[in-house]
Amino acid sequence: MMDADIIVVGAGIIGSACASRLAQDGYRVLLVDDCQASATAAGMGHLVCMDDHPAELALCSYSLQLWHQLLPRLPASCTARTCGTLWLAEQEDEMTMALTKQQRLQKQGVISQLLSRRQLHSLEPLLTPSLAGGLRVSSDSMVYAPAVARWLADTPGITLHYVRVTAIESGRVWLSAGQSLSAPAILLANGLQANALLGQPLLQAKKGQLAITDRYPPAIRHQLVELGYGASAHLRQGASVAFNLQARPGGQLLIGSSRQYNCSDTCIDGGLLAQMLQRAQQFVPQLEQMTIIRCWSGLRAASADGLPLLGEHPTHAGVWLALGHEGLGVTTAPATAMILSALIQGHTPPLSAEAFAPRRLWSHQEVRHA
Ligand SMILES: Cc1cc2nc3c(=O)[nH]c(=O)nc-3n(C[C@H](O)[C@H](O)[C@H](O)COP(=O)(O)OP(=O)(O)OC[C@H]3O[C@@H](n4cnc5c(N)ncnc54)[C@H](O)[C@@H]3O)c2cc1C
Repeated sequence: MMDADIIVVGAGIIGSACASRLAQDGYRVLLVDDCQASATAAGMGHLVCMDDHPAELALCSYSLQLWHQLLPRLPASCTARTCGTLWLAEQEDEMTMALTKQQRLQKQGVISQLLSRRQLHSLEPLLTPSLAGGLRVSSDSMVYAPAVARWLADTPGITLHYVRVTAIESGRVWLSAGQSLSAPAILLANGLQANALLGQPLLQAKKGQLAITDRYPPAIRHQLVELGYGASAHLRQGASVAFNLQARPGGQLLIGSSRQYNCSDTCIDGGLLAQMLQRAQQFVPQLEQMTIIRCWSGLRAASADGLPLLGEHPTHAGVWLALGHEGLGVTTAPATAMILSALIQGHTPPLSAEAFAPRRLWSHQEVRHA
């Protein structure tokens, strides 16, 4: 007798969303987590429609539709809010980026409005008046992702075990205490640690740092992001910063962002943090008068081509992957769950999953010789 219909390794936002979907589809799910530092606990929880790659845009926009069904059902602890995003143009020539973004989003059915300098300033008076304008995407939202993951993991039909998985094989996972658990399907949703379980460097770490201010009377309503954020996010070497700010419901301002490619230590890099905060002050000068009370870092798991891996392992039948969501795993968790649960059940996914098929990162030879 198998222990479950499926074992999901990792109870971050991706594993919990997949476990919840599969449980709702009637599966007996074992969700296993070893309580390590997770990307979900470190991240910002901005639900944002990114458009730097057509497949990324399709995944985000579908996922955001699913989020909009979910948001009203979330408990207060998830602090869900449809705050909208303001994409900010520092210089006049960046307004062409805003226009291109608007057109791409429009093709996917996502409505946005171009904003003049004056309109931007009247929406968010704390922004420096020197900005050239921006783009408002009103449907973007924010959540506190660790609370959402916990809530999803409570879905009836899921049994949650806090234990470390040390090895996997088709139909079985081995645990740190020496025992094993069996199920016909195993889903790996354990972020960067999947490299160790798969014995291959499938994912690279992109370290990110965040800083949060003390509580102040609420004065910012939207998530604020500079238009150059996409370029920083997709950089494949070195370090970069890009302005990104989220007003938390309690009056704190959460400030990002930084990326350090192929960096897997979690120490704070003081120099990069200073650059990130300077960048933020260029957009919101008043930040200079505010107190930063805490800084932390987290590791985003990135695949070689920047897109997530969603589907069956090319050489281990019955082992499924939901990995490599980089800086968009919270946004794309519901769509990931829908795609994986359809594929595992042998159904056609609601959105083409071709661009995310794990086999794209394996050579023909590796697949043929397996
Ligand atoms: C600084 C920062 C800011 C971000 N901001 C955003 C944002 O605004 N919007 C957005 O959409 N995304 C954002 N992201 C990205 C997002 O947080 C991640 O893509 C997402 O959380 C990945 O979730 P996950 O479940 O795949 O991995 P994780 O959250 O890392 O979860 C993996 C889980 O697996 C467990 N695990 C690992 N190995 C084992 C094992 N061997 N046995 C058992 N359990 C194991 C770990 O304990 C962990 O709980 C951000 C990330 C960072 C770092």
